[in-house]
Amino acid sequence: MPYKDKKMEAEHFRIRYHEDPDFKRRSNLATLKRKKLQKNKAIQHLGGKCSKCGYDEHPEILVFHHVGGKQFNISHRLKLSWDKLRIELDKCVLLCPNCHALVHINWTNGRPPA
Ligand SMILES: [Zn+2]
Repeated sequence: MPYKDKKMEAEHFRIRYHEDPDFKRRSNLATLKRKKLQKNKAIQHLGGKCSKCGYDEHPEILVFHHVGGKQFNISHRLKLSWDKLRIELDKCVLLCPNCHALVHINWTNGRPPA
């Protein structure tokens, strides 16, 4: 039901979310689907493969690694609008979990990333 007052609408959905288990389940599924689509779009935006070794077999396991100016963790903010997310994505490279771990191990050991 559309409301003219957005605060009233938010309150309506907040109450329904907590009182209607089926609505909560459907809402959670819709959120997961939206986040998955947004993550896939973000992965494609950054080339769809590991920027170090080229791994692309399972793109969903790729990691957004910041190379500077980090404002927030991409995977925690996938619900943001595309325009806001893209600004942060442009400070990142895609890495497979192995290459990401190696970058951080090198940082921890005081060596520049390989
Ligand atoms: Zn890699």
